[in-house]
Amino acid sequence: MALYVQKFGGTSVGSVERIRAVAERVARFVATGDQVVVVVSAMSGETNRLVDLAQAIHSDPEEREMDVLLASGEQVSIALTAMALIDQGVAARSYLADQVAIHTQGQHTRSRIKKIDTERLRADIEAGRVPVVAGFQGVDGDGNVTTLGRGGSDTTAVALAAALEADECQIYTDVDGVYTTDPRVVPDARRLDRITFEEMLEMASLGAKVLHPRSVEFAGKYGIALRVLSSFEDDGPGTLITVEESNTMEQPVVSGIAFARDEAKITVQGAPDVPGVASKMIGPVSAAGIDVDMIVQNVGAAGQTDFTFTVKRGDYADAMRLVRSVADEMGAGEVTGDNRIVKISAVGVGMRSHAGVAMRMFDALAAENINIQMISTSEIKISVVVDEKYLELAVRAIHEAFELSGNGKEEV
Ligand code: ASP
Ligand code: MG
Repeated sequence: MALYVQKFGGTSVGSVERIRAVAERVARFVATGDQVVVVVSAMSGETNRLVDLAQAIHSDPEEREMDVLLASGEQVSIALTAMALIDQGVAARSYLADQVAIHTQGQHTRSRIKKIDTERLRADIEAGRVPVVAGFQGVDGDGNVTTLGRGGSDTTAVALAAALEADECQIYTDVDGVYTTDPRVVPDARRLDRITFEEMLEMASLGAKVLHPRSVEFAGKYGIALRVLSSFEDDGPGTLITVEESNTMEQPVVSGIAFARDEAKITVQGAPDVPGVASKMIGPVSAAGIDVDMIVQNVGAAGQTDFTFTVKRGDYADAMRLVRSVADEMGAGEVTGDNRIVKISAVGVGMRSHAGVAMRMFDALAAENINIQMISTSEIKISVVVDEKYLELAVRAIHEAFELSGNGKEEV
């Protein structure tokens, strides 16, 4: 007998038929003696519909009220899912976050889970009932409804698995696992049997949208076995997200190719090459809540240096304005930018024990005549920025260079 937290995303509860299918799946687990806690997202499209309604009232609605509004989507799906379970002969009860309670801290629309009370859930489990918990929402210290940021139901599920010391947290979605890259870009991309937390975190934050990045962080920190599976297929193994194997020599060099389409870069030319310049340039940008990603500064010449960094495309105009004003103040040269760039990254813990990984990636791009605009590396990833028009070609070329299709586990 095992305890599973099973999370079903928006498409998995997107219609009455899908909700029935979820209930049938959960019923099969319960029938074999397993204990299950269910977490659901809002029905697909619902959260977006609610966002549009809010936008129609005001272009910048109160965040507290946004949370009250957006949390309503999950209230519908927990109730319907519990009804469908009961209809299957499985005792079930739905819960909003404040009934559990899932305590959060921090700002509205991007709260963090602080603590989860488990008594009520445990009582249900002991009594043979399946609790169906609303994902994505919480309650703050003042009793306000909060939400965890878009896609946050994954994090609810992982946090519940940690609090309940579940055997596995299963994230059911519309794909049957984590792939070596987006199969829409590379049709012969391969499902991975396993991937490490570290790799998954890179893949998630680099734009492979399978899991909410914070859920992966959380699972890694608390050692929760996390599995991504399809709710549309019956018995695939999915992808297990796990700790690094001790013998990294046996890991593939690169596990996957992630990419982010919505990037932009800003270059300050002829900035004075003196201490404090980088912090003066980036300071106001991060103070405005804009995430700065890659940063490159050239070797100075004649007391001047060039400085380039990337931001999300949606923050481009704001970041540009801030940097222009700092550049003016410090007497730097021209500020230029490009919001038609993408970032592509090869990710793999196997890089730690293999040399020549970067060259293999650069050679693949060179062979396709693709110009690399920026490069950054960490222990387990190499990222390049290229013109957005090369995205598909570049991803395919790199995917092939690391022989990720089929059963490729090629070593350098
Ligand atoms: N319903 C929320 C959203 O669409 C949370 C989630 O799906 O995880 O972002
Ligand atoms: Mg999701």
